[in-house]
Amino acid sequence: MFGPPGAGKGTQSQKLIEKYGLIHLSTGDLLRGEITQGTALGLEAKKLMDEGLLVPDAVVIGMISNKLDANKSAKGFIFDGFPRTVAQAAALDELLASKSSQISGMIALEVNDDELEHRLLLRGKDSGRADDANPGIIRKRIKEYNDKTAPVADFYKKQNKLKSINGIGSIDEIFGAITGVIAAY
Ligand code: ADP
Repeated sequence: MFGPPGAGKGTQSQKLIEKYGLIHLSTGDLLRGEITQGTALGLEAKKLMDEGLLVPDAVVIGMISNKLDANKSAKGFIFDGFPRTVAQAAALDELLASKSSQISGMIALEVNDDELEHRLLLRGKDSGRADDANPGIIRKRIKEYNDKTAPVADFYKKQNKLKSINGIGSIDEIFGAITGVIAAY
């Protein structure tokens, strides 16, 4: 699942794991789990996350690799919020190839910046997430996305794996569009 912060990746991923019985791997959730547990990795990541900046590639690649190894019998995975840089995408391809596997496809949720900012500020009211509470940090996250993450779409487009979906509409409408794409895999 690909898209900017606030595009609805987490909401749609939740529905997808229920429908298809997949394992959901959200690097944002994994990092927040490390913070809650007070690990060294979590402490380091928190500083960057609270600023709206990405954490280092090696950190998230390591976390994903551990989760793949811990779920060897899974039917499949949904990656949510990962890969977020071209370097992460290349590392993931290598990691999956070493396990004789590959990405089936990328589903990109398209939502404009004004709508994203609005959604994230709303989410910040009850999510308790520091990075959702401040308009300056939200804009920085959207800028990080445009600078570093948007190019990841091209990476998968070159592999003919990119499918774009309109991320504005009801949750069920968007889910319907996504399952339509998945049916083709
Ligand atoms: P959102 O998609 O709403 O921005 P996430 O929960 O996916 O939120 O991520 C929150 C923060 O965690 C990001 O702003 C970033 O600091 C960090 N993060 C999550 N995934 C990655 C990743 N793959 N690479 C680098 N940083 C990440």
